[in-house]
Amino acid sequence: MSDCVFCKIVNKEINVNILYEDKQLLAFSDINPVSPLHLLIITKKHKTSILEMTTAELASLRLAIRKISEGTSILNAGFRLVNNFGKDGGQQVEHLHFHLLAGREHLWPPG
Ligand code: AMP
Ligand code: ZN
Repeated sequence: MSDCVFCKIVNKEINVNILYEDKQLLAFSDINPVSPLHLLIITKKHKTSILEMTTAELASLRLAIRKISEGTSILNAGFRLVNNFGKDGGQQVEHLHFHLLAGREHLWPPG
């Protein structure tokens, strides 16, 4: 989608700090971090909801988290994976993405 900020990142029209990339997904730092580690993992194809994800994309998501966390304290200390969908989910960017949050304790329930 031409007016989608995450599609522009996928198309390299906007420069970001890429931490993981494969055929399905891209991971980069959130521009407005809320935790010491705050990455976004996005699908390369524009889609809005987790329910549109293919099996290959779901497998890549698991691999991406594993690769990103390998050799870091995250695996022991833990992390939070968040997907906001729709108005009630608090989704602001309508391109499917997962927030990977780590480096501090995250409270429950969220706001
Ligand atoms: P959500 O509320 O789940 O849709 O979150 C969208 C996230 O995208 C927010 O945490 C923003 O800080 C982040 N974001 C928006 N534009 C950019 C950008 N150009 N680069 C990195 N992160 C972005
Ligand atoms: Zn998009």
